[in-house]
Amino acid sequence: MPKSTAGQKRPRPSTTAASSRKNSEAPELTPSTGNQSKPIRPSLVGGKENRPGSDGSISVIAPEITNGTPKGEESELDLVDIQDAAAAAKASNPQHTVPYSREEEIEKLRTGGSMTQNQTEISRVRNLGHIQMGAFEMEPWYFSPYPSTFTEADTVYICEFCLSYYASNQTFTRHRAKCLLLHPPGNEIYRDDFVSFFEIDGRRQRRWCRNLCLLSKLFLDHKTLYYDVDPFLFYCMTTRDKHGCHLVGYFSKEKESAEGYNVACILTLPQYQRKGYGKLLIAFSYELSRREGKLGSPEKPLSDLGLLGYRAYWAETVTDVLVEQRQASPDGRGGDISIEDIGAVSAMTTNDVLHTLQNLNMLRYSKGNHVIVLTEAVLLAKEKARAKEKAKGIVRRKIDPERLMWKPPVFNASSRTWNW
Ligand SMILES: [Zn+2]
Repeated sequence: MPKSTAGQKRPRPSTTAASSRKNSEAPELTPSTGNQSKPIRPSLVGGKENRPGSDGSISVIAPEITNGTPKGEESELDLVDIQDAAAAAKASNPQHTVPYSREEEIEKLRTGGSMTQNQTEISRVRNLGHIQMGAFEMEPWYFSPYPSTFTEADTVYICEFCLSYYASNQTFTRHRAKCLLLHPPGNEIYRDDFVSFFEIDGRRQRRWCRNLCLLSKLFLDHKTLYYDVDPFLFYCMTTRDKHGCHLVGYFSKEKESAEGYNVACILTLPQYQRKGYGKLLIAFSYELSRREGKLGSPEKPLSDLGLLGYRAYWAETVTDVLVEQRQASPDGRGGDISIEDIGAVSAMTTNDVLHTLQNLNMLRYSKGNHVIVLTEAVLLAKEKARAKEKAKGIVRRKIDPERLMWKPPVFNASSRTWNW
């Protein structure tokens, strides 16, 4: 399979970072094949010294040198620690005003996109009592439009492979005896010793994808897509054992997103939550964007859990880039790196990079320039998170770009539309 072996072309240096609210259009940017564990050597070319405008756009960036102890590259942040760090930084720097409170920011993120929330539906109570899926029994969290007869069943049985649903154990058992599916009905595009990813076309596998949407709505507070699955691809993460490939989570992605979104809906099934899978899902979505040579951002509004997952992922990714860049600099003091550089490395939009830096209180104004400051508080938080992780024996998993056997698919107009 062809690998993305593009060279180290620099991203266009001219983008203004913060001025446009919607900057998810894809800049011309050659995908970096390197994963983020490689040292980043940002371009020092001139021309980036745009004056910071009154709109708050950021130009020259220099990570602050702190005298902290050397940090391992496996450092990991979790959300709580990041917030502690941001609070600590704020407290130590009272003249710096942070533009958003957490609540305001969540609201901004959740409502800043194109997907509208369906309030009447959110307010509807969950309608299924229990579901059983594979080895797990779960209580749904939200309403999902399963046929109304299913609301009377004590337990709804869901085939973990074809995602068909049954109101009785008897009909379910009959189904299992003849169901032949052992993995999501698409191409396996990624496999490592931990997970596999499958790509499923909503138009070719309409029933399966609708079943997936019905299932995921049980655990998503706002999702509105159920039936019009044709314009989407579904990237499903599974774990493998001798019985087959078990669905862990997925994200959907528009075949062509005018806004440049790289994720429409994203969910880790509850039985697999809090184990690091969500982060892998997000990382995979950015790996696809990198392979496409695009910067990506998830469609808004995000679900509550989705928002938490993204915030943690963004914080970890951005700070990793800065730490690695500092470690790679000749004097270990860091150098110039711009928001565009961080975006190019991470496939994150400059808007998301900027927002993350603001949220971590890492943007300062000094001598006429905005600068990124790798604060001691953030570094400490990384260290703390890593220690906690070690103590828990959690292995940090990453997406290995070399294992992604995938070329961005090309669709003609008819395959994107809903077509009975
Ligand atoms: Zn089945």
